Amino acid sequence: MPKTLIAGNWKMNGSLAANERLWLELAAGLAAGGTGAAQAALCVPAVYLEQMQALMAQSGVALGAQDVSAQASGAYTGEVSAAMLQDFGVQYVIVGHSERRQYHGETDAVVAAKARAALDAGIVPIVCVGETLEQREAGETASVVGGQLAAVLAVLGADAARAVVAYEPVWAIGTGRTASPEQAQEVHASLRAQLAEAGAQDVPLLYGGSMNAANAASLLAQPDVNGGLIGGASLKAADFLKIIASAQ
Ligand code: PEP
Repeated sequence: MPKTLIAGNWKMNGSLAANERLWLELAAGLAAGGTGAAQAALCVPAVYLEQMQALMAQSGVALGAQDVSAQASGAYTGEVSAAMLQDFGVQYVIVGHSERRQYHGETDAVVAAKARAALDAGIVPIVCVGETLEQREAGETASVVGGQLAAVLAVLGADAARAVVAYEPVWAIGTGRTASPEQAQEVHASLRAQLAEAGAQDVPLLYGGSMNAANAASLLAQPDVNGGLIGGASLKAADFLKIIASAQ
């Protein structure tokens, strides 16, 4: 059975000094308790990849990025390519986070192209899908997340088996409102069935949305929840360490 993946998403937070402090606390906790059944990863702002690559060397914690260009190179001001991420030892990259879909107009097609670019560079895309509160209340959850995943599966084909998918209900991200373990499992089961039809049944399915030290164990205990994508709680070493420890 693959290890449970616990990935932190620092979003647009941090500084050279704060990152080092946070990492030293995390490293001390991991040295004492280990990562057990979990593979931990930190998805940091692109400008801090070099710093975190150096700090995290040989730690066993994987380095991740929060976005990648769909393009290989050229006149795309401000973009960072998958090959550039690869230069810094990046192993995971988040694509299609709801904040990118909402604030940067990323469509399913763009998300799929980014996932393709990541895989072509040997980086595992963490493909985020999730419904808004309005969509959930209208009974559209399955069709919304299913459609978002279908767009990516259509582009990745057999390579989808090398991706990670994160179910992140938009109404739960950064709100303190978490999907119940049953709500998460219901969506994860439907995503699993869709992945199985595409020959990618073993793709790890992460839950994200206000996962914290108190609720992680019950979410991670669900049969189709294979890990977590953690925003706010990944910025507090003690909380992130507790979530890693919950992955038993
Ligand atoms: C996220 O940003 O992917 C996320 C899940 O954030 P939070 O844990 O803060 O809800």
